Amino acid sequence: MVAGKKTENIMKTYKHKPLIVKAIQWYRNGDHPLDYKEDIFSDITGERITREYQKENDWEGQVIRRYRSPYVPGETLCPDCRVEMRFHGWIDDNSVMEPIVCPGDYVISNDEGKHYPCSPSAFEELYDLVDEEPETKI
Ligand SMILES: [Zn+2]
Repeated sequence: MVAGKKTENIMKTYKHKPLIVKAIQWYRNGDHPLDYKEDIFSDITGERITREYQKENDWEGQVIRRYRSPYVPGETLCPDCRVEMRFHGWIDDNSVMEPIVCPGDYVISNDEGKHYPCSPSAFEELYDLVDEEPETKI
């Protein structure tokens, strides 16, 4: 826009671009396909802990962590889904409002590698399944 030159401001019609996302429905620790994406090393012994070992021994997921809070007892009922908070997950995304994942929520993954929860009702209203090929990599 050239400074000082006013363009005619006419209301136009636009169509929202389609938004394609990857998502999974999360129910419990370890459900996210990237939860055990890589071997890790013990802080204490330096020992390698394989992806398989983590999964077989129900280690905390690397994407969806186990929800715990010193201020919220695990037996507290979630105000959204009425399930005890100890069955919830949370996403460690370094934000102030770390997203809590209710059992049954969809977890949407964007191109930047961020993950965020979406309630089943909102997800099913907004998204249709594009393909039914099993997708393990996001
Ligand atoms: Zn909940």
